[in-house]
Amino acid sequence: MKASPADIDRTRGLEERTERKQASVYDNVTRQFDKAADLVKLDPNIRKILAMTTNEIIVNFPVKMDDGRIEMFTGYRVQHNSALGPFKGGLRFHPAVDIDEVRALATWMTWKSAITNIPFGGAKGGIQLDPFKYSYSELERITRRFTFALGNNIGPEYDIPAPDVNTTPQIMAWILDTYLSTMPPHERQRCTHVVTGKPIESGGSLGRDKATGQGVVFTIEEWAKDNGFELRGATYTVQGFGNVGSWAARLMNQHGSKLIAVEDVSGAISNPDGIDPDDAVEYASKNKGLISGYPKAKPIDRKTLLQTQADIFIPAALENQITADTAPLLKVKLVAEGANGPTDPDGDRVLQQRGIDVIPDILCNAGGVIVSYFEWLQNKRSEFWELEEVDCKLHKKIVSAYARVRDTAKKFNTDWRTAAYIVALSCLERVYKERGIFP
Ligand code: GLU
Repeated sequence: MKASPADIDRTRGLEERTERKQASVYDNVTRQFDKAADLVKLDPNIRKILAMTTNEIIVNFPVKMDDGRIEMFTGYRVQHNSALGPFKGGLRFHPAVDIDEVRALATWMTWKSAITNIPFGGAKGGIQLDPFKYSYSELERITRRFTFALGNNIGPEYDIPAPDVNTTPQIMAWILDTYLSTMPPHERQRCTHVVTGKPIESGGSLGRDKATGQGVVFTIEEWAKDNGFELRGATYTVQGFGNVGSWAARLMNQHGSKLIAVEDVSGAISNPDGIDPDDAVEYASKNKGLISGYPKAKPIDRKTLLQTQADIFIPAALENQITADTAPLLKVKLVAEGANGPTDPDGDRVLQQRGIDVIPDILCNAGGVIVSYFEWLQNKRSEFWELEEVDCKLHKKIVSAYARVRDTAKKFNTDWRTAAYIVALSCLERVYKERGIFP
């Protein structure tokens, strides 16, 4: 049986990867980092440390396919920094996964944890594959064999994976089970926090599924308060209708805001009178997870989506979508980055020149890793928190991170992405200065 998109809850990004492949995502990280490090006059020694990753693990491993063939896969885990706590970050299953992308994503995780004051470092990983080409049981074997290949490079107090593009709670359950199966029996029960984003019954947290989208909406609420902007009746567009995009769309709808255009890998649709996100999710769940053909909206092309006049644009797909070419098309007041790295430095410059506000990814989409932290804590303490408790704690964390970034942007008279970097770099600089370098 081939896995249907609904089975593995794909984060439907735009598949226009050729352009992205030419532009290094890690190069974007370096440019963002250099700008902030110069502005905050980061200690040159600490700058050297943070400009590099700590460990880069590449594993090639064989998996038996349903027809008896053996296929080789390449998996990655990049551990950027662990000064603030264990390495932490998701695993992505996508054909475009490569060392450059994983390096960038791992580095962003370090900044994300630092900005939000959670005791984690940064890591990211994944397998270069198109998960939709494999059956459910093949995906299980691929996941388990990858986990086995990573071995002690992951661990509950060392490096903790989580979901990312095209990876689901079910995949996290297979990682958990494989990891525990390699432990001596009496040690298994104290290791369930080796991975987060698990199904609830396997030790997951309530609220983790919607956490990234929820965090996006909490930061938009703060922006609206700061700007005297009324969310009721406001219009928004969403790029990517996977976990992050669909949850952000649904939660914005609860504010009385109106979704007027949305895009996934199957195409883009629009309806100026509003698209009901819950209804669109329901439709997609019966349409192989895709929104194309949704009867209550008309199909539009990708460029038209970007040109749609709206108050808020939520990119929730892949990297390098807002560039020097596409940023001039946007007709919005705010870009709230649900995706990691959707805007490249040239795109950023255009948005700044045009006076479009940006809530940067490392702040805007931090809700996922924040609730991963809560899941990790619950597992360690054998606790199970109510949804209200999770939501309330997430709100507190992300709102205070938002305030830190806003205040830093004012203090340094800079854009919010640079301000977010300054918050993270300053925190890491303090820690390195306190602890010193061994030996
Ligand atoms: N993959 C998510 C991110 O990019 C979540 C990571 C986590 O929960 O560790 O932030």
